[in-house]
Parts: sequence; structure tokens; C-alpha cells
Amino acid sequence: MDLTLSPAEQAFEAEVRAFIGEHLPADIREKVRLDRFLDRDDFMRWQQILGRQGWFTGAWPREHGGQAWSAMQTIIFNRVAGEMHCPELQVFGPAMVGPVLYTFGTEAQKAKHLPAIRDSSVWWCQGYSEPGAGSDLASLKTQADDQGDHFVVNGQKIWTSYAHFADWMFCLVRTGREGRKQEGISFLLIDMKTPGVDVQPIRMLDGRHYLNAVFFDDVKVPRENLIGEAGRGWTYAKFLLEHERVENANLRFITQELQKLRRVAGEVRSGRRRLIDDPAFAAEVAGVEVQFKALEIGLLRMLSDMHAGAPAGPGKSSFIKIRGTEIAQRITELLVQAAGPDGQRYQPGPLLGANDDALVGPEHALGPVPSYQFCRAMTIYGGSTEVQKNIMAKHALGL
Ligand SMILES: Cc1cc2nc3c(=O)[nH]c(=O)nc-3n(C[C@H](O)[C@H](O)[C@H](O)COP(=O)(O)OP(=O)(O)OC[C@H]3O[C@@H](n4cnc5c(N)ncnc54)[C@H](O)[C@@H]3O)c2cc1C
Repeated sequence: MDLTLSPAEQAFEAEVRAFIGEHLPADIREKVRLDRFLDRDDFMRWQQILGRQGWFTGAWPREHGGQAWSAMQTIIFNRVAGEMHCPELQVFGPAMVGPVLYTFGTEAQKAKHLPAIRDSSVWWCQGYSEPGAGSDLASLKTQADDQGDHFVVNGQKIWTSYAHFADWMFCLVRTGREGRKQEGISFLLIDMKTPGVDVQPIRMLDGRHYLNAVFFDDVKVPRENLIGEAGRGWTYAKFLLEHERVENANLRFITQELQKLRRVAGEVRSGRRRLIDDPAFAAEVAGVEVQFKALEIGLLRMLSDMHAGAPAGPGKSSFIKIRGTEIAQRITELLVQAAGPDGQRYQPGPLLGANDDALVGPEHALGPVPSYQFCRAMTIYGGSTEVQKNIMAKHALGL
């Protein structure tokens, strides 16, 4: 596979670099550079800047207002975004519900929701998991009673990332109890301001609030918010999960953290030498770099197939998810090692803005431990590694 950038791709890379250099707000770049936590306004400001350029949904087809980026352009964009300290993009709209809407939605649903995803004026969240229905998602119990022109939803979702920031949720609900458990599931869009929706925070080890439990108590959802046919939600849900797993390659994050690892390993001293001159540490850094290159090639192959109209396919997207999350975890482990004892200091002021305390110790030691802790979850959300391995065994190896 030839990975040399064509003149057009080189020009695109230069354009992305120049655009980010000119438009990424300095305060946001500084927060990302220092691993400080971002709030809703930070994410939205940057996404709306990208939206005005047409780049928040760059990979969407042109007929739906996208830029029809090639696989290589998508990779270039993420790589440069990582190098230049851009925030992680919230992919619930552009990479999850967006493709479901333009593939399965009605004209009215497309007209209502696609523009607001493209310009990032609306924040979406994902209501899939429930207590007792994570890996075994088809066991979900949240009930939607069909009342003709509307559904009445009762039940609970859990681990809903950023539900407290969200304007809308795409949600899996049960509308039927007959047949296989996958058959009675429907895909509903729920306005988070509807009476009866209650979002409760789940605080994390690092003090952050990004997870929630969401309760539904007689929530009235208009029928026009149903995607496709009632009872066929499992088909749309699986389509979405394949896109989600591609996003979980974590290209931007890995690029950013690898760059940091190389820099820190060149600055921090281990005894009389720099950490990068320690052969064992240098071999670890080289190891993750090589693995990352292989991941990029795998991702390029899969995205090229998808652009040519082939589905991501469950086995392939599972492979990308496993490698992308394991490499990201390994890099954060190495960053914790590089930070050494300085990294053990928990600093809620500089990290969360919880108080006005000044940063204590070197800048590079602030983020690695919270980042390491967060990355433990990467091999759980979007489908756990064990479950991805089962999918690969079945679809790729035919076991
Ligand atoms: C940080 C974070 C953010 C999340 N955000 C969202 C969100 O926005 N929206 C949403 O809907 N959900 C979200 N989730 C939920 C996530 O999708 C689930 O946690 C995940 O699917 C696993 O389900 P579970 O937690 O119920 O674990 P379980 O399914 O109970 O699994 C527990 C353990 O058993 C293993 N296991 C389960 N089944 C099998 C099997 N068949 N074979 C082998 N091993 C198995 C798993 O690998 C895991 O180690 C998030 C989770 C986290 C941690």
C-alpha cells in the first residue's frame, strides 16, 4: 500500500494546518495541551468553527452537505488535529446518528436534524446501555408504548456520556416482546427537554462529570421521531455501532499523546540520561509507534472500502476498535511512567477549574494519571474488547 501523500493530499494537509493555526482559540488549545478538562462551551465553540468550514462533517457525502473526504483526508485531518492540540470532536452527531439519519431517516427528519449536526448547534447523546443491557444490548428493557401518533417511554439508560450537555438523544427502546429479543427494538430520537426526562450525574474517579444515568417517566415522544420502521431498530443500531468502532481508532488522541510521549521522554531525566536514551523505554516508544503505523494502514484500508460503498463489516471494525484502544492505553501507561512521582499529585484546580490553585510541578505531569484512568474505559465503551474478540471470531474467522 502506497502511503505517500499525493500533491492534492499534501495541499489538503497544508490547508488543515493553516486553518487550525488561524482559527483554533488559544484558550482551548492551551487546555488540550495541558490535559485540562473541557466544558460544553469549549467543545461547541471549536465544533462550530469547524462546522462553518464544512469540516465537522467532512466525511459525509456531498448530497447531505458533507465534503466527501477520502479515507486519507479523514486520517490527515485527525492527525493534524492531534498534533495541533485540537479538542476531541463529539462524534455522537456527525459519526453516529448523522449517518443513520441520512441512510434510514425520512426527508422531514433529514431536513430537521442534519443541518444542526453539520453546524454543531445541537449536542446529541447515545441512549443504548441500561443496567443489565451493556454487552448484551438486545436485553434492553426501556419500554415505548405505541399510542398511535406518539410513544410513551418509561425506563432507564446508564453510562450516557454527556447527557447533561445534550439537546437530543438517539435511543433504543423496546416496542415489542414477540420473537427474538432483537426484533422488538426501535430507534427513537428524544428531545432531552421533554417532560419526564431526568438526568442524574455519575462522578468519576478523577472528579469529572461526563457520565450519567437517564430516567424516563411517561415521556411522550412524537411518532415522527421514530427512525425507519418500529421493531427494526436493531438493524440501525448495528449500523451505527460499526461507525462508532471506527471512531474508536482514536487517531487524533493517539497522535497527540505519542507526540507528547516523544517530547517528554526527550526532556525527563532518568538518572544521568534522558528517558529516551534508556534502551528499554526507547524500545517501548518505538513499539507503540510501529503499532500505530499498522493501525493507520488498517484504518485506511477499511475507510477506503467504506468510501467505495462496502460496509465497515463487524469483524473489521472490531479489529480497529481493539487496536486503537489498546495502543492508546499503552501510551498513557508510558506517560504515567515518564511523569514518575510528580504525576501522582492530584490537582483539581488546574485540571478541572475546581479552585484557583496554581499548577504544582512540571506541566507534563498534570494530565497523565487522569488520562490513564479515563483510558481504562476505552476497552469497555463502544463494546468491550472481549465482546469484540467474539465478533471477530465469528465474522472474520468463522468460528
Ligand atoms: C466511559 C464510558 C462511557 C460510556 N458511554 C456510553 C454512552 O454514551 N451511551 C451508552 O449507551 N453506553 C455508554 N457506555 C456503556 C458501554 O457501552 C458499556 O459499559 C459496555 O457496552 C459494556 O457493558 P456493561 O458495562 O454492562 O458490562 P457487561 O456487559 O456487564 O460486561 C462485564 C464484563 O463481562 C465481559 N463480557 C460480557 N459479555 C461477554 C461475552 N459474551 N463473552 C466474554 N466476555 C463478556 C465484558 O467484556 C466485561 O469485561 C459507556 C461506558 C463507559 C465506561
